[in-house]
Amino acid sequence: DKPLLKIEDVEIAFSSPDEADIVAVRQVDLTLTAGKTLCLVGESGCGKSVTARAVLRLLDQNASISRGRILFTPPGEETVDIGALKSDSLSMRAIRGNKISMIFQEPMSSLSPVHTIGDQIDEMIMLHEDLKPKEARERTVSLLDQVGIPGPRERADTYPFQLSGGLRQRAMIAMALACTPNLLIADEPTTALDVTTQAQILDLLKKLQDDYGMAMLFITHDLGVVAEIADEVAVMYLGDVVEQGDVFEVFRAPRHPYTQALMRSIPTMARKADRQRLSPIKGTVPSAKDRPQGCAFTSRCPHAFEPCPTVRPERTQVGEGHVARCHLLTQDTTRAEELA
Ligand code: SF4
Ligand code: MG
Repeated sequence: DKPLLKIEDVEIAFSSPDEADIVAVRQVDLTLTAGKTLCLVGESGCGKSVTARAVLRLLDQNASISRGRILFTPPGEETVDIGALKSDSLSMRAIRGNKISMIFQEPMSSLSPVHTIGDQIDEMIMLHEDLKPKEARERTVSLLDQVGIPGPRERADTYPFQLSGGLRQRAMIAMALACTPNLLIADEPTTALDVTTQAQILDLLKKLQDDYGMAMLFITHDLGVVAEIADEVAVMYLGDVVEQGDVFEVFRAPRHPYTQALMRSIPTMARKADRQRLSPIKGTVPSAKDRPQGCAFTSRCPHAFEPCPTVRPERTQVGEGHVARCHLLTQDTTRAEELA
C-alpha cells in the first residue's frame, strides 16, 4: 500500500533579486501513513512551516520546490505529484481545502473577519460539494457541534471577532474539516492558546482524527506537544531533517546531538516557572544563507569534528524505522565493526 503522503528528496529554495537562491529546505524525505500523525519539530526558521506549506502549494511567490516530489495518494485514488502541479491549477484547487486542509496558529489567517463563521463554512462545503445552502448549513451546524462550540446553530451567525480565542480556533478546525480531508496540516495550532485551552484543542484534534480517520502533519516547536500527539516525529534543524522515526523510539533513544540537546531542554512541569529562562541550546541558529555544506548543526554541536562542516552526513538507520544524519553514527558503525 502506498503511503498517503511521501515527500521525496524535496528541496525548497527562495530567490531574491540580488543574491543567489537560498535553499531553505534541503533534500527532505518524509512519509505519512493514513490515519497517523507526523510531527515536524524544530526551532523557528528550521523550515518546518515551509515544508508544510509546500504540500498545499501555499509557498510565497519567491519560493519554489526546486527538487524532489510530493506524492499524495488518497485512499482508492491515483497518486498525484503535488510538487509538479501549479499552485492555482484546477487539480490543486480540488485538493486544497478538500483532501488536504490546514489550520494555523492564528485563526484569522483562514477566517474572514467580514463574514459569519457559518457562511464561511457553508461556502467551503459548497465549493467542493454539490449541496444546497440549507444542506450545507446543516453540515456546518453539525461540524460546529463536533468541535465543541456550544449553541452551534446560533453561533453560526456570529462573526469571528465575537468569539473567544479558543472558540475561534475551534471554528477554524470546523472549517478545515468541512470536506472531510484525508490530511490535516496543523501549523502550531495551539501555540497562542493558554495551557488549558491548548490541552482541550489537542484532545479535540485526536478525537476528530479517530472519528474521521485523517492523517495529520503537525508542526510545533514544543516537544511536550509532540509527546502528546505524534505517532512519528521528524526533527528539523536549519532546513534539514536531522532525525526521524517512531515517537517512542526517538524519545527513548535520540541519536542526533541536536535532538539530544532538545530533549535535555524539556522543562519539567515543576520548573514551569522558570521555563522562560531555560536556554535550550547554546548559540543561535545561523541563517540558511550561512548553512555549511556539511552538517547544518556544525556551529552549535559540541561533538563537531573534521568532516562536519564540509561533508553532509548520510541518512543512517539507527533503529527500526529510525534514521538520523550525523557523522558520529557512521563512525560508530565503523568502530563497532572494527571491534567485532
Ligand atoms: Fe555534530 Fe558532526 Fe554529528 Fe553534525 S555531523 S551533529 S556537527 S557530530
Ligand atoms: Mg512556523
